[in-house]
Amino acid sequence: MEYIINIRPALYNKGYRITGQRQQIIRILDKATDHQSAYKIYEELRKMNHRVSIATIYRTLDLLVELNFVRRIDRHKQPSVYELADPGKGPTVKVHLICRKCNQVQDISSSLSVMFNDLVGKAQLYHEFSIEPQAISLRGLCAKCRVESARGN
Ligand SMILES: [Zn+2]
Repeated sequence: MEYIINIRPALYNKGYRITGQRQQIIRILDKATDHQSAYKIYEELRKMNHRVSIATIYRTLDLLVELNFVRRIDRHKQPSVYELADPGKGPTVKVHLICRKCNQVQDISSSLSVMFNDLVGKAQLYHEFSIEPQAISLRGLCAKCRVESARGN
């Protein structure tokens, strides 16, 4: 659980304790291969017999987002999904592709992400503008939904 080890001192420094619940939520996000909604996290916790309210999960996620440990990805008319942000590592700007039909969220490929962040680096220099870590969403239709809409579904 490398991520929790990294997160613990950072939480302490900001005056927060790493409670069991916070730890479990981070674990679920760490294990997940896909972006997780608060409700999916809630279901996971219930399966592990943790009694926790959905409100607590939202509060915890809000805190983790505020501290930049977790990123929130907003979807149109759908609950937001979350992923670990891995502060200090990873790209400055994370790019997600969000399908407006099936609401699937995917990361752009790592090689495209490197190219994109190269551009971000150049923009910083050119404009003498310091770009903060963030996630951006590009909306459209995924490959599966493009095929379906071409067939007239
Ligand atoms: Zn789709």
